Amino acid sequence: MADETEITARFSRQELESGWKEGGAPARSFARLFLGARTDLGRVRENNEDKFEFFLPADPRTLAWRGVVLAVSDGMGGHAAGQIASELALKTFIERYYASGRAPVEKALRDAVAAANQAVHLAASVEGRQGMGCTLTAACIRGGELRIAHVGDSRLYLLRDGQLRQLTDDHSWVGEQVRRGALTEEEAELSPFRNVITRAIGTAPTVEPDILTEEIRPGDTLLLCSDGLSGVVSREEIEAAAAQAGPSEACAQLVRMALDAGGPDNVTVLIARVESIEPLPEEAFQEADEAPAAPADDAAASPEDSGADAPRRRKGLLGSLFHRE
Ligand code: MG
Repeated sequence: MADETEITARFSRQELESGWKEGGAPARSFARLFLGARTDLGRVRENNEDKFEFFLPADPRTLAWRGVVLAVSDGMGGHAAGQIASELALKTFIERYYASGRAPVEKALRDAVAAANQAVHLAASVEGRQGMGCTLTAACIRGGELRIAHVGDSRLYLLRDGQLRQLTDDHSWVGEQVRRGALTEEEAELSPFRNVITRAIGTAPTVEPDILTEEIRPGDTLLLCSDGLSGVVSREEIEAAAAQAGPSEACAQLVRMALDAGGPDNVTVLIARVESIEPLPEEAFQEADEAPAAPADDAAASPEDSGADAPRRRKGLLGSLFHRE
């Protein structure tokens, strides 16, 4: 097991100060993860506007500075706009994040969200893509540190010692009413406004993400999902499935439960179990001229090509609220 004291002691004051000047410092360890992920159309929709992505760098310097990223996005908008939005947002977010070299993680995450927002907002200006946007919930794991960048009502849960805790707040109208004490959780679940979200990627020129920080430990499990899971499968059921099965099996089980509950929406779940947190090799911290390696360009089809034209879905815009049916 990694000795945290030793890892901390390896920072020199000079190194910390120079790291601070540049704005960042490398992690001295990395989390070994066991991953599972699944996305499903559901039983009602004609196209899948949900998407997940992850990037696990093999290069120790990239691991030290940027860590691992896991993300989900849930798109919205008529025709194939929602699909384009979620794909474009995740692709732009991950590329921009890993292109940020040694910038502090929080700044790199904010810049990556801003870039994703700009890309989707620009793509939304094309005729027929009114109301195009998406959620974005991303986890960045560097050593024993978890940073979350979050916009919308997809969720990130942490399962520790059998207890599931939702780390993100839903940027939804009902979520805000529950936090204010104006609605109970039960009333929120039955509200006709439960699909109205208050923050989204791409629907305005700028967006303010929530940036959260948590410490993670070996044995922890992170679960990211779209509202197609959390809207129909209870917290207790998610907790039980994530605690009892390995990541791939739990993802399959949870998607099946959402489908059994009617599958009214696209369903996406990504699970990462932290197997261990291990020291990075010395080469991870050695000075080098070139920036840490960025991910290779995605071989996936361009967002313009993705998916057949789907029937236009009704998405109402209520002031700055975005209705996702
Ligand atoms: Mg959804």
